[in-house]
Amino acid sequence: MPLAYVINLVGNLNVEEDNINTWKNGVVRALKRYMQDGEKAVDKICPECGEEALVYQDGCLTCNACGYSKCG
Ligand SMILES: [Zn+2]
Repeated sequence: MPLAYVINLVGNLNVEEDNINTWKNGVVRALKRYMQDGEKAVDKICPECGEEALVYQDGCLTCNACGYSKCG
């Protein structure tokens, strides 16, 4: 299973409890470090321009279309 799918899966988990949320965010952050630069994000659109052009760059989500970048 591609890492991008796992990140997407864990990131979309809906949890009520704060401590699980903290764990979830930590896991997503850790997994993103293992993403290869330029690997395409799964099922994500850019919040800035709405393009499906998001890739992982240095562990950050970066938009190839408008340059939007979100880390963590
Ligand atoms: Zn964009």
